[in-house]
Amino acid sequence: MKKLVKENIQKFAPYIVDKEPVRILLNANESPYNLFQYLKEEFIGKLEGRDLNRYPDTDSEDLRKALAKYLVVQKENIICGNGSDEIIQMIIHTFVGKGDTVIIPTPTFSMYGKFSSIGEGKVIEVPSYEDFKINVGEIIEQANKNRAKLIFLCNPNNPTGTLISREFILEIIQKTSSMIVLDEAYGDFCKENNLDLIKNPKVIILRTFSKAFSLAGARLGYGISHKNTINTLYKVKSPYNLNTFSQLIGEMVLENVDLVKRVIEKIIKERDRVFQELKNIKTVQVYPSHANFIFMKSEKIETIIMECKKEGIAIRDYSDPSLKEYIRLSIGTPEENDQVLNIIKGV
Ligand code: PMP
Repeated sequence: MKKLVKENIQKFAPYIVDKEPVRILLNANESPYNLFQYLKEEFIGKLEGRDLNRYPDTDSEDLRKALAKYLVVQKENIICGNGSDEIIQMIIHTFVGKGDTVIIPTPTFSMYGKFSSIGEGKVIEVPSYEDFKINVGEIIEQANKNRAKLIFLCNPNNPTGTLISREFILEIIQKTSSMIVLDEAYGDFCKENNLDLIKNPKVIILRTFSKAFSLAGARLGYGISHKNTINTLYKVKSPYNLNTFSQLIGEMVLENVDLVKRVIEKIIKERDRVFQELKNIKTVQVYPSHANFIFMKSEKIETIIMECKKEGIAIRDYSDPSLKEYIRLSIGTPEENDQVLNIIKGV
């Protein structure tokens, strides 16, 4: 059987998530607050009217209308997917052929590289500076030299929390002819707004309900772009890609967006508190974050990881040798954050 598997797939391992029971989950940048508890009855009521023997709306019309209203764009500017992961895959299916170049500033979200390689693209990683600001000059040079089809910009960046300045984004758009994917999975945790950039059909913005909207379990993400680009992405979209339940809960959460905004404020406040506390710990180097997590470095990282594990706290560590001394802490409830802070202070 192995010989039948495409050569570029053979080298991959499946995406593995640790299933060991833990008390506190601070490893996946989820929201610690479950909004669904407020919406459960209404959700069940609304489900009554749905025919689950029928396929969902393949175009997620009502959800796209609700999103368009929320974002102040047209529904024709939006495509919905089973998590923004699915939109990333659609983009790669649409633009990347065998051997086509994809530019990825690193370190960043690993799925850009993985999906590009599965699509037989040629990934060029452009390392960021020591403070994790992206190397704009090198990104532009590599993109032009290799006629790159895509450039992924994660803003704010996972795992570092770094924000890319508007000026840098504009420079990359102006000086390259590649498609620019601006992944704003964590954009709700900062005040930047780059939505006006979708006037340019080369720009695709990605957003998700998994982080600030407390709906990681619903697997709901979307792309925002010029309508011509969205129509092109529609060519590769699977039929009925987003199930009835996720479309419905997405619409409901948008109707209750004040709840979401309160959660975002709480998380930002906590993030800033945790950052200050970490900054006061001498053995730790912490990076300013514009997202719902904090990236940090310590010579004692192995002990911190071990102590967290012992206490049943999941944090994100890295097997990549260049990130061995780093961890990423998702922001949890104040009580959860205090428990990790106490461990780090103790170490
Ligand atoms: N982009 C970034 C930067 C992420 O960190 C993640 C999830 N960790 C995703 C996209 C995918 O999000 P989802 O598929 O849950 O929408």
